[in-house]
Amino acid sequence: MSQPKSDKAGSQLGSEELIAKPRTDRIPVAGPWITQKEIDYVTDAAVTCWYDHAGAYTRRFEDAFALRTGRRHAVALPSCTSGIHLALAALGIGPGDEVIVPDLTWIATAAPISYVGAAPVFADVDPVTWCLDPDAFESCITERTKAVIPVDLYGGMPALDQIEKIAARHDIAVIEDAAEAAGANYGGREAGSWGVASTFSFHGSKTLTTGEGGMLLCDDDALFERILFLRDHGRRPGDVSFYNREVAFKYRMSDLQAAMGLAQLERLDKLVRRKREIFRWYWERLEPLPGITLNAEPAGLFNVYWMVSLVLGPEIRLSREDLRLALKAEGIDTRPFFLPLSSIPAYRGSSQAVEAARRNMESYRVGPRAINLPSALCLTEDDVERVCKVIGLTLNKTP
Ligand SMILES: *Cc1c(COP(=O)(O)O)cnc(C)c1O
Repeated sequence: MSQPKSDKAGSQLGSEELIAKPRTDRIPVAGPWITQKEIDYVTDAAVTCWYDHAGAYTRRFEDAFALRTGRRHAVALPSCTSGIHLALAALGIGPGDEVIVPDLTWIATAAPISYVGAAPVFADVDPVTWCLDPDAFESCITERTKAVIPVDLYGGMPALDQIEKIAARHDIAVIEDAAEAAGANYGGREAGSWGVASTFSFHGSKTLTTGEGGMLLCDDDALFERILFLRDHGRRPGDVSFYNREVAFKYRMSDLQAAMGLAQLERLDKLVRRKREIFRWYWERLEPLPGITLNAEPAGLFNVYWMVSLVLGPEIRLSREDLRLALKAEGIDTRPFFLPLSSIPAYRGSSQAVEAARRNMESYRVGPRAINLPSALCLTEDDVERVCKVIGLTLNKTP
């Protein structure tokens, strides 16, 4: 395993007080870093964002996000799921079309493909990044393929340069699912700047959170217009005629959430540095253990380690459930790594899933043998020490 790249500004991050804290001494998997700034912005939104000032924080949040990712347009939404849905709908993808997704991801990447009546196709992942493998993507392309949704899994990123090239050659739209990777970059290009559109999630577990929320970004003016039209019941922004031209959706974010999001975005680099520091604490303790693999940071990638994840090698005679139970007994919460979508009940019977299960070696090697370790922004080095001790002891006890 290669050493994680170190951050110059290192570990003096304690100054900004963390206000929201867990109420028990269990070590949580995920959780935000809320400071007085977030509270001030939300309070201000609650007081001011009405009447002719309605939408003010939402516009500021959108503009700041577009600037950060180098995009022309940003649309704040209730979730990342709604962002993927809108992107597919605005691109005109529908029945008879296929959309390729990595087999290892949260179902939210794939479910919107079914909302628009298209079919998800599950491609295998790269053994190092755990993200969509460009060759696997290319081999899944058929004449029905209209889009691909690469995922920046657990804060890492796939080889998006190669994926974009392949997609361009086949006239396929790329939608980057950057839900887990705010602040990451690959080849110097920020997560959220790839493809014709990209999406983020601000769910409470994510690095940058608004409780629930999402963002859809794009550059094309016509696509942006279509997104705005579809997200507001088939009417143009500002339209008050109640004379809707199409049956569409209602996907908006409130100023209260946007105020929280703006404060978090202004602190994003600090949130990311804390995530990277947490990863380094784990890496220093777990890297020496044989048979253990953690998140990778290949050359060119700036990984934001949304979830520190651990893969148990085949030489370790311990199931991931055994390890999770041992940690749970010591007050340590974990999550199972995503199982291949093609293996879960929602998709299992479909012909696409059956083919994927036969083909996707890496997804089936990694997913069932991996867990997410506590990665909440409130963690201390002592917490990580406690987690690693239990992992070490459990592995030692295993024959
Ligand atoms: C969290 C997540 C989503 C969905 O985000 P919501 O805001 O909950 O809709 C989509 N894709 C990935 C990879 C995620 O981790």
